[in-house]
Amino acid sequence: MEKRIIPISLPHTGEEEWLATKESIMSGWLTAGPKVREFEQIFAKRHGVKHAMAVTSATTALHLALVALGVKEGDEVIVPAFTWISTANVVLYCGANVVFVDVDRTTFNLDVNDLKSKITPKTKAIIPVHLFGLCADMDAIKKVAGNIPLVEDGACAAGAGYKGNAAGSLGTLGCFSFHPRKSVTTGEGGMVTTNDDALAEHISNLRNHGASISEEQRHHGAKPYILPDFNMLGYNYRMTDLQASVGIVQLKKLDSFIDERETWAKFYDEQLKEINWLRTPLVGTDYKHGWQSYVVYIDESKSPISRNEIMEKLQQMGVSTRPGTHAPHMLHYYAEKYNIKPDDFPGARDCNNYSMSIPLFNKMTEEDYHYVVHCLKSIK
Ligand SMILES: *Cc1c(COP(=O)(O)O)cnc(C)c1O
Repeated sequence: MEKRIIPISLPHTGEEEWLATKESIMSGWLTAGPKVREFEQIFAKRHGVKHAMAVTSATTALHLALVALGVKEGDEVIVPAFTWISTANVVLYCGANVVFVDVDRTTFNLDVNDLKSKITPKTKAIIPVHLFGLCADMDAIKKVAGNIPLVEDGACAAGAGYKGNAAGSLGTLGCFSFHPRKSVTTGEGGMVTTNDDALAEHISNLRNHGASISEEQRHHGAKPYILPDFNMLGYNYRMTDLQASVGIVQLKKLDSFIDERETWAKFYDEQLKEINWLRTPLVGTDYKHGWQSYVVYIDESKSPISRNEIMEKLQQMGVSTRPGTHAPHMLHYYAEKYNIKPDDFPGARDCNNYSMSIPLFNKMTEEDYHYVVHCLKSIK
């Protein structure tokens, strides 16, 4: 087969997204305004929640979720040990402590059996991650968590489902990312979802410097001398209307994007099952995978060469791969801060060392997919 160059991912944006920004630019309303409200409404409807609040990233979404839950110094928040580092960082932004929980090597998600022993009277929240677009087993987590609030890190899980319900509607709060590596993009951007009216209002205020509209302003029309009141420490985490314009167009394509990726994920499943040193993603019947990434697990006891050598070989053939994500407890900052060893979380350690994301994105062609399979099968 002729050599092809295939990146790990490319966002699917084009003229439609470009034109969508024109209206905002011409109107002069650039920051959060009508486009953000429309984007939030479409997002909330698609994910079956009452409220969706657009913010600047999944990281700031997660931060606000924890602030709204009252997470503060001395509290503990449980975070899977295999996830993007910011799932853990946001806990530290609140002055609280990160308590890592191990992950399951087959789903890459939080290991419910390891969760029980991590809960203490100080546990203020748990952040189950729906990694690569596969929801965590939320019912099993709820059983163990009891009344502890669950904040879904659905950064990769726009449009994903669990037992007939959408990601973002499964916990107390849900958080999403619109980074270009995710399923739909606004460049940078995020969303918080919830069915709780009070949390929604709190988060709306927090993202806007903590501004709250007074009752007087709400009910008696705009008086020129009334500015919002500020009774909390807020942030500026507002999404712009420019980003939301792109998001509206992208969100309309979300389900067709997922359908297309699912078709090619099945193609990979079928084609790659004959490779005995590689495990394709396992998706239980209760789950609708969002296929943000297609991540395989390399069994080095059977593979002719190591995971890293496989990745280098593929790179030479023009196929980009990446480790699924990283294990924060193995990263310098957390390893040092909490004096953690890689072996303290063996599941996360193995996922860190043996996972491999292969190209799956909406701009790929049929020939690209066939070429990736060809290259993987050529590794001897
Ligand atoms: C990408 C990602 C984030 C961070 O999203 P940003 O929008 O870039 O802040 C957080 N958690 C997970 C699991 C992610 O994959």
